[in-house]
Amino acid sequence: MSAPAKSDVVIFGGGVAGLWTRAALAGRGYSVALLECASLGADQTLASQGIIHAGIKYALTGKAGRASRALADAAAIWRPCLAGRRDPDLSRVSVLAERMHLWTTARKRSKLAAWAASKAMRSGVRKLSASERGEALGGAPVNVDLYEVDEPVIDPAGLLTALLAAGTGPCAQITSEPEPTFKAMNGGSTLVSTTLMGEQRVEILAGRVLFCAGVGNESLLRAIGRDPVALAQRRPLHMVLVRDAPIELHGHCIQRSDVPRLTITTSRCGSERVWLVGGDLAERGVERDREAQIAAAKSELSEVLGWLDLSGCGFDAFRIDRAEGRTDDASRPDLPVILDLGGAIAVWPTKLALAPLAAARVVELVEASGLVPTPGTGLTGVVEPVVGARPWEGRAVSWS
Ligand SMILES: Cc1cc2nc3c(=O)[nH]c(=O)nc-3n(C[C@H](O)[C@H](O)[C@H](O)COP(=O)(O)OP(=O)(O)OC[C@H]3O[C@@H](n4cnc5c(N)ncnc54)[C@H](O)[C@@H]3O)c2cc1C
Repeated sequence: MSAPAKSDVVIFGGGVAGLWTRAALAGRGYSVALLECASLGADQTLASQGIIHAGIKYALTGKAGRASRALADAAAIWRPCLAGRRDPDLSRVSVLAERMHLWTTARKRSKLAAWAASKAMRSGVRKLSASERGEALGGAPVNVDLYEVDEPVIDPAGLLTALLAAGTGPCAQITSEPEPTFKAMNGGSTLVSTTLMGEQRVEILAGRVLFCAGVGNESLLRAIGRDPVALAQRRPLHMVLVRDAPIELHGHCIQRSDVPRLTITTSRCGSERVWLVGGDLAERGVERDREAQIAAAKSELSEVLGWLDLSGCGFDAFRIDRAEGRTDDASRPDLPVILDLGGAIAVWPTKLALAPLAAARVVELVEASGLVPTPGTGLTGVVEPVVGARPWEGRAVSWS
């Protein structure tokens, strides 16, 4: 094998965390090589609903002040980036909705949630007056309370494309087998050995290695001798897709919990609208098989959006895990989890919305380690990974 390539930082994983961090480090002059074993954003980022939460969902319980504050801080970074006034420039990313609707069912319990929401929510939440309701939510009846909240919904695929363009340095497709190996070297650097697409084994001498690989962090941690069970967790979801949806809807049906009863966002699949449905339905639905989950979704939708006709819609469901840093009680971390493990740093942003905070923290750690920016060498002629497909595009969707 020829002499090792060199890079200040080697990043494993090209989802939102890896690509945002790559752009942030490159902006500080560091040479960065990003290695991706599938397609960019393959697991969670492309399956995400693309909501740039402003902390509203978490403010509902009053318990999660830290999470709300972090989301508000992150939202303050997203806005200028989406406007092209701050790096990374995300001005070309499609904003599918400028704000989310929140709505209640007409039942008393849910009205309480609305009350809690109106009390606990931070700026940006507004109850829609009778004259503003118009066609919001396809003409919801008056006994349904309607709010709007300043949480944009973005197209995650466009986000990945923009972040890729915002960074510099080689972005290489690697194979998942054989797995990479890591050897600690004198002076704190790490010799990374991996296989490029095309079967060529390469070595890269890295000042720091970042694990931004979502569920893939587990095997990478194992490869450096760390126990993923002690450091990482997964929280499963059973998401629902609704094809040929009747309206463009971006909203949370709220209940008295930090998890909305349903969270619905809308994307396009050709000329059709597709709803991606999450929330409590997706969390509780992990116990159900596909048919039962679709039946539960139909029943929930008829309860909370009963005025819409969904009889012509197709339904599908898919399972996906949220990959996170471990918490003591396996609950959602409030913040991004970033573990400095010596030569390697493991990163879980916790939310797409929190990716800018995760990237900023990694930059702080790399700078504090005293790593001096130097040009990368040796990793050329690589096959670049492409942005992957959304859940209704990339797999054998079977609508029923
Ligand atoms: C259904 C769903 C809906 C969500 N909705 C929202 C939302 O609306 N708003 C929000 O803020 N958050 C949301 N989230 C959370 C958010 O999507 C994630 O926190 C975020 O996308 C995680 O990004 P990531 O880059 O860490 O991981 P991923 O997006 O999973 O990316 C990991 C990348 O690493 C690659 N990889 C894996 N193993 C390796 C390896 N060994 N070597 C190299 N590369 C590897 C993968 O192919 C992939 O490209 C949602 C999550 C889910 C599952």
